Amino acid sequence: MAPPEILPPEILSIDGCAIQRAAVLIRAGQCVAVPTETVYGLAADATSGEAVARIYAAKGRPSFNPLIVHVASIEQAAALAHLSPAALSLADALWPGPLTMVLPARAGSPIAALATAGLATIAIRMPAHAAMQALIAAADRPLAAPSANASGRISATTAAHVAASLGGRVPLILDGSATQHGLESTIVAVDADRLRLLRPGPIDAAILSSIAGLPLSTEAAAGIEAPGQMASHYAPGKPLRLDVSTPQPGEWLIGFGAVAGDDTLSASGDPIEAAARLFGALHRADAATAARIAVAPIPMQGLGIAINDRLRRAAAPR
Ligand code: AMP
Ligand code: MG
Repeated sequence: MAPPEILPPEILSIDGCAIQRAAVLIRAGQCVAVPTETVYGLAADATSGEAVARIYAAKGRPSFNPLIVHVASIEQAAALAHLSPAALSLADALWPGPLTMVLPARAGSPIAALATAGLATIAIRMPAHAAMQALIAAADRPLAAPSANASGRISATTAAHVAASLGGRVPLILDGSATQHGLESTIVAVDADRLRLLRPGPIDAAILSSIAGLPLSTEAAAGIEAPGQMASHYAPGKPLRLDVSTPQPGEWLIGFGAVAGDDTLSASGDPIEAAARLFGALHRADAATAARIAVAPIPMQGLGIAINDRLRRAAAPR
């Protein structure tokens, strides 16, 4: 992987030209920092695994958590997920706004597996901020966007926070001054028979329950899908061995770089490509006839740290 860019980011006040410039970068697979009504987001094309991998690279995130996918309309959301009547009621009442819903993903959805961390569900939000809405429309695709701060640091609520936290690792920051809420969106999982509050936020949970006409689960399990608690959220159904250059008989080898294997994360040893291909490669290994899976060594540098984190979780005994 090329070393992180050290050029200072371009910071543009929001107008039609700035949005077009941002959309060109997004379509080219780059990240752009953009204000929303909650906090600044680090946005990239949610349909491109490599673009999503660049979000992780820029944030220096040591693990792959599912990201929120931002859309500009309920129709766009409905193309990606199944919206139950309760979910539609919530969308009608509270979108655009600081509400993220975790919904069953549609089969054949164009969203990159890395954006949902290989899950069968997808977190979707329609933001209210005009800049984010304009960017989704100009890029003409859903945008994955976690908060625009380095991993483990506080969320950015001004363009200056973004620049201080991400520096030259983001090519463009759209400056929309301070964000309205300054707090991340409320996240609710909409199940058939109940709502589960996964993250409290600007929208009160009691309001969600009355709009959806569903009970809000108060069990301690709420939040179980929060970052770091998703150890086994995607794990293949077969034993998995790491750091393998020479497979044993009966092993399906996922290669990297010079280790070719039955499949490869990246023949050229590119961690961005490897991250983009990770969940697909695990699914293919699971579907193969071989009884066991082996994975070539991935250097513990840059995105390699998050890739190894995911692989170690997948290899953990269950
Ligand atoms: P961020 O994008 O950094 O604001 O974080 C997104 C949050 O949404 C994280 O807490 C994720 O765990 C949560 N999330 C995203 N997708 C899902 C999903 N499919 N199921 C459960 N939680 C999710
Ligand atoms: Mg964050």
